[in-house]
Amino acid sequence: MSEKILAVNAGSSSLKLKLFTMPEEVELFQGAADRITGSGEGEFSYKKAGGERVKLSLNMPDHEVAIGKLLEVLVESGAVTDVEEIKGVGHRVVQGGEFFKDSALSTPENLEVIESLNSLAPLHNPANVMGVRAFSKVLPNATQVLVFDTVFHQTMPEVNYLYPIERKFYDEYKIRRYGAHGTSHKYVSEAAAKVLGKDLSDTSVVVAHLGNGASITEVVAGKSMNTSMGFTPTGGLIMGTRTGDIDPTVITYLQKIKGLDADGMSDLVTKQSGMLAATGFSNDMRDVEEAVADGKHPHHAQAVVAFDMFIKRIADFITLYAADVVAGGRNVDAISFTAGIGENSSTVRKLVVDRLAILGAKLDEVANNTRGTVDITAENSKVKILVIPTEEELMIARDTVRLRG
Ligand code: ADP
Repeated sequence: MSEKILAVNAGSSSLKLKLFTMPEEVELFQGAADRITGSGEGEFSYKKAGGERVKLSLNMPDHEVAIGKLLEVLVESGAVTDVEEIKGVGHRVVQGGEFFKDSALSTPENLEVIESLNSLAPLHNPANVMGVRAFSKVLPNATQVLVFDTVFHQTMPEVNYLYPIERKFYDEYKIRRYGAHGTSHKYVSEAAAKVLGKDLSDTSVVVAHLGNGASITEVVAGKSMNTSMGFTPTGGLIMGTRTGDIDPTVITYLQKIKGLDADGMSDLVTKQSGMLAATGFSNDMRDVEEAVADGKHPHHAQAVVAFDMFIKRIADFITLYAADVVAGGRNVDAISFTAGIGENSSTVRKLVVDRLAILGAKLDEVANNTRGTVDITAENSKVKILVIPTEEELMIARDTVRLRG
């Protein structure tokens, strides 16, 4: 029987949702609220399937107000006649630690476990739980389901998730690599197998999820073997405002000379670094590409170097993971690009693939300028290059249906 399912991604000052009819997987509505800060006007937008996006300025003091407004326009747009039609709400939760090996129903105990993991995802987990609590109040009859970014990476072998620090730090404090974006890496690796016409169990793919947050994952036979994000989503690639991997003594040295405490330092590496710091002006890849292309841009020289750093780090991780697939006795079937930058920037894809000569990777320039799910492999390439738009919300809706039983 068809049912309406909401997929929700709640951030500290934002909220995104999509409504699907399941199991048909038809998207009916999407809405977003940004700058839920209480002071000043926030940005509110929504779009009914096949309709135009409507944008409004709205004061949203808290998430409950934003959710109330989103549900109001959802009914007004005719996506549902009554919010009681929504039978399940699936929530993205960034950090599930080692506790969650699968998505789970929202229970007071499970929410407590997530809260106990707050220090592992301080930017995300508290906001995710706030979203679950707010929806439980507004839609008390819907099943609330928790879908974790970390679950997909729980298949990584110890050799890839342990850090070279005393074992007790793992045993007692659970300090290890967790990774993130798992829902996206799972979706894209499964979709890649379909595009390749291969069984998932016979497929090895390196997935490059390149958004404001970015990570690369080695997926063998549908299982995550290694991923570039680490203990928190700050590790790995150079991101919009996050450093990615960095010599740890840079942190301790900076801490000393700047007199920063742990929170101040954490703020510096997660919110004030990455492309924003390296370019000196923006974390938005569209701005960065513009500055690179425009020799007269005031930040041109810095942007050129930052952009090179960004591209090189991506190619380095892809090369590492491809080598690991081969060392494991398999071939790399495809490299798949996804998320805001991976799906939209033909320049980033071209420059990354140009650096993958060791894999014999070549892309087709014409195909590279098409949109949607597309095979951009050149005829003489030794490995397939794919672009696969990610569908994290659909994966959340699928799990919500599965857990509702
Ligand atoms: P997140 O979900 O981590 O916030 P997204 O996956 O939405 O991030 O990706 C956002 C990034 O995608 C931004 O850096 C934005 O500049 C970039 N982006 C979107 N469209 C384009 C484009 N046409 N060319 C280059 N970058 C783009």
